[in-house]
This record gives sequence, structure tokens and C-alpha cells, in this order.
Amino acid sequence: MFVLIYSAVRVPVIFFMPPNFPSIISSLYELMSPCSLCPHNCKAERLRGVVGRCKSGALARVASYNVHNGEEPPISGTRGSGTIFFSGCNLSCVFCQNYPISQLGHGKVVNAQQLADMMLELQEKGVHNINFVTPTHVLPMIVESVYIAKQSGLTLPLVYNCGGYESLTALKLLDGIIDIYLPDIKYADTVKAEKYSQAPDYPEVNRAALKEMFRQVGGLRLDENGIGVGGLIIRHLVLPNGISGSVKALEFIARELSPETFVSIMGQYHTANKSDKIPELARPITSKEYSLVIDAAENLGMKNCWIQELE
Ligand code: SF4
Repeated sequence: MFVLIYSAVRVPVIFFMPPNFPSIISSLYELMSPCSLCPHNCKAERLRGVVGRCKSGALARVASYNVHNGEEPPISGTRGSGTIFFSGCNLSCVFCQNYPISQLGHGKVVNAQQLADMMLELQEKGVHNINFVTPTHVLPMIVESVYIAKQSGLTLPLVYNCGGYESLTALKLLDGIIDIYLPDIKYADTVKAEKYSQAPDYPEVNRAALKEMFRQVGGLRLDENGIGVGGLIIRHLVLPNGISGSVKALEFIARELSPETFVSIMGQYHTANKSDKIPELARPITSKEYSLVIDAAENLGMKNCWIQELE
């Protein structure tokens, strides 16, 4: 359960110039083969079917799509968020709670029209937004499908729900397409980022990505019903034993973005994937660990944070 400890400011909706979809789609596909869609830059010839570190080749795979009511209040609202979960991931987190999807590849191959139809079906169900979960490695296919869906009447805000390990080149191509960025800030320390997610440059890359997202969409904007229509929300999962570097992560947000940034401080960590065999990760966080992080947010003057009730 999420609790808003400060109140949000309601501001008018901002309208953007329409993006040049054909040119953006073509640029994104160019990044995909040899692949530099994400900072791993592993150069896999994905359009020829070669699979990269993210375990993805030429086509997107979808594990599920549905109406989701468990996101932050401005995302799920009263009618739910239209989530589309993609298979594969560019991070390899040892504690991933979705690892059958992200690392074992569970899911069904879809083409652009099928993906567009999923968005339109979710819109038909009345959701507040279309929420792309783990989108980074399948961006060209997503934007191509959005273009098709928009021509058939898709009007909902688009949510980019990612692990925060993003290429600046790819992100810049999304300017004017994505309405709400919902990235993680997972680590503040390169050694831990390498040990637990095999991405030693995560802290540096992640901070640059968050700055770019903030530049594009600014702070979270709500409609008259408190539903998000644009802006940035950052998620931070507190890990046991200070592994997530929570205080440094919050300091970055407060000082280099804005203390008014909406942050979801998550205390729901539980062991999954390989983490029950890693002693420092083999337990939930304590209430004391969580309280220290919440206190740090308050001390930094952060205006908008969600916190969770620990089980
Ligand atoms: S998106 Fe996948 S294939 Fe492309 S650079 Fe990243 S990990 Fe490699």
C-alpha cells in the first residue's frame, strides 16, 4: 500500500509538438543492429536474429498485458494502468522478482500490429494509461506499435516503466513520445551494481538517464482527478544491508533533480531468483533500515514521497 506523505500540485496539461514517428522508428531500428539500444552496447546483430545480453533478438515478446491496480496512485488511479510486460531485460539482477519473464524468457512473440492491438484493447477497457514494463531492449518495436495504435485512436498517456539503465541516444529519440517516465534508481555504488546486476556503470548511466527524463517531462503533472498525465516518478527499492545506497540515491534526486520529485520508496524487498543464496540479500529489510531511508528523504526536504507499510 502506498501513502503520500506530502500533497501534489495540480497544474494544466502541457501539449507537445507531434513527433516525427517514421524517422524516429527508423533511427531506433538502426540502433538495434548492431545493438547499442542500451549501455551494454553489446553489438548483437539483432535484426538478423542474434540474441543480445537482454536475451532478445529481432522480435518483441510479451509475457502478459492486463489492467493493473497496484502501481502508484497517479498511475493506477481508479480504473487501473494498462500494463504490457515485455520478456527479457538489459539488467541481470540477482534478486529480480520477475526473473521467469526477465531472465528465463517466458512470453509470446508479437508483431507491431499485435502490440498495437493490445494497447487499443487496454484503452477500450478504460485504463488511465499504457504502461510499458521493461521496455528498453524493445524500444523500436514499441514506438512502431504506438505509431500504428495512434492512427487507430490511441490517446492515452504512455508510461515508460524501466530499470533506469538507459542509452541517452535512445532516450533522446523518445522526447515528445513518452508522457510519464517511471524509472528505477537501484544503486549508488559501482561495485554493488556489478555484483548484483552485472552493470558496474549503472550509477553514472542511471543518473544521466534520470536527468534526461527530467529534462524531457519535468515533474509529475496531475489532471483534475489526481491522475498522472505527464512527468517523472522515480522508484527506489530499499535493499538489506545498505546495498541500494539509499541515502546517496535520494541526495542525488533532491540536489540534482528537485526535492519535489515524486519518489516511490519501496520496502517490499523479498528474496527471489538467486538472492536467497547470497547472505547479505537473504532477508527482507528491517523496519529500522526502512525508517532510516524515510528520515533521510524528510531531512533532504523531499516534498513528494510514497512509502509502504512493511509486512
Ligand atoms: S538492448 Fe540487449 S542487445 Fe542491445 S545492447 Fe542492450 S543488452 Fe545488448
